[in-house]
Amino acid sequence: MNDPGGGAPADLPLRGKTEVLKEYFGFDGFRAGQEEVIDSLLQRRDAVGIMPTGAGKSLCFQIPSLVFGGVSLVVSPLISLMKDQVGALRQSGVAAAYLNSSLTPAQMRSVLKNASAGKYPILYVAPERLETEDFAAFARDASIPFIAVDEAHCVSQWGQDFRPSYLKIGGFVRSLPRRPVVGAFTATATPRVRDDIIQLLGLKEPKVVTTGFDRKNLYFETRTPHSKEAALLEFMAGRRGRSGIVYCLTRRGVDEVCRKLLREGYRAAPYHAGLTAEERRINQDRFQADDVSVIVATNAFGMGIDKSNVAFVLHYNMPKNMESYYQEAGRAGRDGSPAECVLFYGGRDAVTNQYFIEKERENEELDPETLEQVREADRKRLRQMVEYCHTSECLRSFILSYFAEEGPKSCGNCSNCLKEFRMEDITIPAQKILSCVLRMKERYGITMLMDVLRGSRSVRIAELGLNELSTYGIMRNESKKSLREKINFLISRRFLELTDDSFPVARTTPLAKGVLFRGEKLMMPVAVEKPEPAPRAAKKEPMPEMPLPPDLFEKLREKRKEIAEQQSVPAFMVFSDATLRDMCDRMPRDWDDLLNVSGVGLVKREKYGRVFLEVINKFRFKPE
Ligand code: ADP
Ligand code: MG
Repeated sequence: MNDPGGGAPADLPLRGKTEVLKEYFGFDGFRAGQEEVIDSLLQRRDAVGIMPTGAGKSLCFQIPSLVFGGVSLVVSPLISLMKDQVGALRQSGVAAAYLNSSLTPAQMRSVLKNASAGKYPILYVAPERLETEDFAAFARDASIPFIAVDEAHCVSQWGQDFRPSYLKIGGFVRSLPRRPVVGAFTATATPRVRDDIIQLLGLKEPKVVTTGFDRKNLYFETRTPHSKEAALLEFMAGRRGRSGIVYCLTRRGVDEVCRKLLREGYRAAPYHAGLTAEERRINQDRFQADDVSVIVATNAFGMGIDKSNVAFVLHYNMPKNMESYYQEAGRAGRDGSPAECVLFYGGRDAVTNQYFIEKERENEELDPETLEQVREADRKRLRQMVEYCHTSECLRSFILSYFAEEGPKSCGNCSNCLKEFRMEDITIPAQKILSCVLRMKERYGITMLMDVLRGSRSVRIAELGLNELSTYGIMRNESKKSLREKINFLISRRFLELTDDSFPVARTTPLAKGVLFRGEKLMMPVAVEKPEPAPRAAKKEPMPEMPLPPDLFEKLREKRKEIAEQQSVPAFMVFSDATLRDMCDRMPRDWDDLLNVSGVGLVKREKYGRVFLEVINKFRFKPE
């Protein structure tokens, strides 16, 4: 892995897509959407693949790269992502390499030399590299049939991870003597981002392939616990020994939660950017190998994670937008087993995220106007995230409609669908709230509005004279939580709206008039408080265990760990959990039979086949 310039040459003959899928990657069939994208690219028509995390976007560009001759380029935003993908490709016998700032100048030259000599069918490259003189010189002479842009939403300032360097890609493509076919890949499905991708990358009448974003096996839940700490311990108590991820917003949060879990006897480990690369790698490997069952992490954790048996993803804090949330939550249940995605919301979460938004992009090369536009989009996304935490509608349908997809009215597998609601007439409290907004001249945010309604004695309110208003203190007896719920409801039903400023101001909409002046009645669904909803508990119990004697799976995992350590690669690069599971299912008898296991291609069989067969055979004859 340290010498990205070398690597096994691809001595396998180039084949059609199905042979490549089987012989290099060891898979028997394509997943939804993959073939459509691949076919389009092979016919030299540009393509956009919009598929959720874990759907298998990488194969959509890796396979065409292996079918075309020459060297295909993959533009990727993160060094760690490139390392993982190149490492995994090499394990499968594909001579891939990468070019990014982690290489020394000598290494870079050597990679470019090898690339010019046609040694790599796939070259990963950071967008910043495209503009360098060396690279331009290489690209002028090389035969580049295909360019794939991974995480393509980075090109759009409406996307959640805008990277100015992605804007250079379009120009680079145009600068080439022969225009390659271009494929773009993302898990972000908003129409605006999709249009930006097509336009800014200069795609030509691309085939746009979108697969469904719904993950039916995932259960979604939101909670606003009084004490997150108590809620955490209660949640974890029911899931001891299961593999899970707990996401926190800050490093400090990670350390605290992790300490708490360790104290309670859970096998937990932390993961965040404050740890050394070595510590992070060890903790990730231990999690991957089920040596620890829970990883407590910031959003730094996850890229390149391929763990199929994650039973829950708990968000201890609300993340900054729905894109991040769905991506992180989506790491649960990759193998299709039922899994839980639970989010603990607290008012501080919104404040912390707001702070990140105002601070975050300071160091990027953006002109002030663009920067403000980007921040505005970030703020809007944050508001939608907060809305998710408060909605009483079906959570799945909320998520799907966020990603511009039609969802069911009620999915039956989220906390809102399983909750019982009673309808409460809130006409009078709604009138109080709306008229207070008007009396405050629509100039203040939610916090101030609540303070006035509840008659807060803060100095600030007295200074502003807000305690003189006739609505001051008219909801004195309402709890903060219940007042907040009503305000959220008014926002979600568009009686109230928040402005796009960094300190959003509450304003009434024309709809408010109906309630205020025309005597319209307003009903709000209110959850009937119950301990743990029963249907879910019943559903959760028979979590499918390993289909075959778990000892074989254990033994295969031990073997994998041993090999991974010997070769100093992450365990999942040797074989994924899904592959080990398939070995347990099939118990292959011989060399030929091994190829029937999903994830065993020709090269991996050559490398690891014999040792794994040995383990399986030993187990077959002497299962104890
Ligand atoms: P994405 O980039 O869309 O998030 P990846 O490309 O990382 O997803 O793929 C996720 C996982 O799915 C990987 O472990 C990959 O090996 C597996 N995978 C992809 N395509 C197939 C397939 N056709 N059959 C079986 N497994 C697949
Ligand atoms: Mg990917």
